[in-house]
Amino acid sequence: MATWQTPIYRELARRLVDVVGGKTAAEFAKLGLVTVDDLVRHVPRRYLSGTEMTSFGQLKVGEEVAVIARVVSSEIRYSGGSGRVQATITDGDEYVSLSLFSGNRRHLEFWTRQLSPGARGIFVGRVGQFQHRFQFTHPDFVILDGAKVTGGKNATARQAMQRQVQRATMVGLYPASSKLPTWVIADSIEMVLPTLRGDTLPAWIVERAGVLPFEHALTAVHEPTSTDQAKVGVDRLRFDEAFGIQLAMAQKRRDAGAQPATPRPRRKAGILDAFDERLPFILTAGQIAACETIFSELARTSPMNRLLQGEVGSGKTVVALRAMLRTVDAGGQAVLLAPTEVLAKQHYQSITSLLGDLGEGRKLGAHPEATGVVLLTGSRSTAAKREALNDIVTGEAGIVIGTHALLSDPVTFFDLGLVVIDEQHRFGVEQRALLSAKAENKPHTLVMTATPIPRSIAMTVFGDLEVSELRERPAGRQKVQTVYVNTLQHPSWVDRAWERIREEVAGGRQAFVVCPAIAGNQVEAGMEADGERQLAAVEELAPQLASGPLSGLRIAVVHGRQPVAERDDAMAAFVAGKLDVLVATTVIEVGVDVPNASVMVVMDADRFGLSQLHQLRGRVGRGVHAGLCLLLAPVDDNADAETRLGAMASTDDGFELAELDLTLRREGDVLGANQSGRGTLKLLRALTDADVIAHAKVLAEEVLDDERSAADPLLADLMTKAEELAAGEWMEKS
Ligand code: ADP
Ligand code: MG
Repeated sequence: MATWQTPIYRELARRLVDVVGGKTAAEFAKLGLVTVDDLVRHVPRRYLSGTEMTSFGQLKVGEEVAVIARVVSSEIRYSGGSGRVQATITDGDEYVSLSLFSGNRRHLEFWTRQLSPGARGIFVGRVGQFQHRFQFTHPDFVILDGAKVTGGKNATARQAMQRQVQRATMVGLYPASSKLPTWVIADSIEMVLPTLRGDTLPAWIVERAGVLPFEHALTAVHEPTSTDQAKVGVDRLRFDEAFGIQLAMAQKRRDAGAQPATPRPRRKAGILDAFDERLPFILTAGQIAACETIFSELARTSPMNRLLQGEVGSGKTVVALRAMLRTVDAGGQAVLLAPTEVLAKQHYQSITSLLGDLGEGRKLGAHPEATGVVLLTGSRSTAAKREALNDIVTGEAGIVIGTHALLSDPVTFFDLGLVVIDEQHRFGVEQRALLSAKAENKPHTLVMTATPIPRSIAMTVFGDLEVSELRERPAGRQKVQTVYVNTLQHPSWVDRAWERIREEVAGGRQAFVVCPAIAGNQVEAGMEADGERQLAAVEELAPQLASGPLSGLRIAVVHGRQPVAERDDAMAAFVAGKLDVLVATTVIEVGVDVPNASVMVVMDADRFGLSQLHQLRGRVGRGVHAGLCLLLAPVDDNADAETRLGAMASTDDGFELAELDLTLRREGDVLGANQSGRGTLKLLRALTDADVIAHAKVLAEEVLDDERSAADPLLADLMTKAEELAAGEWMEKS
């Protein structure tokens, strides 16, 4: 529990339980609102002006709306033991029916008195349809002119809304729930606003940022006189979110940068130059730029903390290897950490083959600049491990490749200078810290990720890292032809997909079949089950294929609920060409390199995110053979799914797909955020608010440079808050 230095943060941190009572607070909690701060930053999703009529022409069945309308007629009708008020309201053009049911005659009479012809009111409810006419069943309503509000179970609510109308000329409609209607939220906010005095930021920062002071912003958002005013108010709250994050990140970068690192300057005619000479291809412009940036940071006395983004096959490994060689040239060691044994082995193989005799250590007759390359994984023999550990501690091994085993105690480095982490998302922040602790000085760190995300998001999620990107593909890479098949429209094409696999296998190639589920509707981590649709499951599909369309082929399964050893065995057999078909879940997403795999069939492809599909299809077409990816999905009248799968077929730019993914999905999914919890981004949308984020980042740096900041209790509280949010939430999930 944080301790706050300033009254405003203390007020904001108050729990709603202590403000509105337990029952209401419980309803607030369901909306993710736990503190006063959460509450006042809960922004109306739209505003209604008390003076203008909402056009009925915009109504859509199923939507929750508020309209301002005039009553045309109302009457009580009885049928059986109960009755209802049947009324008609109009926006001046069109008509909407309205029904209110009750077994109590006095209620019915009360309602008809309120809904007297000519009365004008705000009606809030879900739009229904009955006999070709829109209708509201039991809307909540407040009469704006002409009516007296007396009694009735919603009297307080209506009074609250009337007060809201009187206070401002606009009524804000909040994201609400059936148990927590918009006016209860408005009322609660009205109650806490007077307790919030002063700003959450020092005045000079507010001015520098060009946003409204906090109190003004709250009034503008919750009691606006115009939509423009409300917008400016929201801008301030949005800035707060961006600034809080960026300030905490900037501080983190500073703390990291304050630790001393050993500079690793370039040495002429060393192993790096020898390697460059024999590189069989020309580096892309992106690779050169990334290397230049990395090299200049390696030469500094503060540690590099850089993220290298680039999709599969964009040539990240070569960039990392050059950084490692440069470290070796400067007398240090470099370690490459992979998320799985299979990947560690693959890295070992590709790096030793790229290095040739430069990687053979100080053997007799070896290249004079050669260094040792060792592989350290859990499954290696004790003798092999002992030898590797020895080479690491003596410095014989300049390059160390491995898995988590590297994090364990007995591993001691001679002089660890650079840590390269492949596939960031499998490693936690703590693991990075564990490795860093193995160096005398803080090592330079390069994180590689093959799931490209837009820069603004990277700045938010990986804000403690600077970002480099490899956007172009090295020449000569195979394209993966992607075809989307709607299996509802073309059921026979499913058989065609299996035939394609048979053809590829007959030609000596290998195939992947990817399913969202493991067995039944038991899904792979990160996927969502579907109550209605039976999703393709690895454990079920594999035997069906083996005894059916793919009989006679060598098939194995791979998924996240298998014992690790079993999974690694299947992977290794596939890599070694001892299997024809691997039926798998998304566990194969990360980095498996089988140049001989040429076709992939993705079942229920609509259940995967775009970035995920892109990552998956990067598993084929990695060798000399063209790749084919068949996306199968029974898409029934879902324009969104059609767009997404269509986009997959039409572009192979991972960055473009990542952006599209974001515009189509809730951003939280991409950030891996917990949607229901608090502390997730509320107003900030990393994609559309890229400007705000970039501005906040610049300002955060500036603020930390300014001597006024050091002793400012408001900034201390702001950072405490940012850390609190980060601790339980998405930032650490990176
Ligand atoms: P990533 O790690 O980003 O998935 P890699 O570094 O493994 O990509 O590169 C994929 C393949 O492309 C490797 O075989 C690598 O040797 C090759 N490659 C890398 N850079 C280039 C380049 N500039 N020109 C041609 N081939 C390249
Ligand atoms: Mg790679």
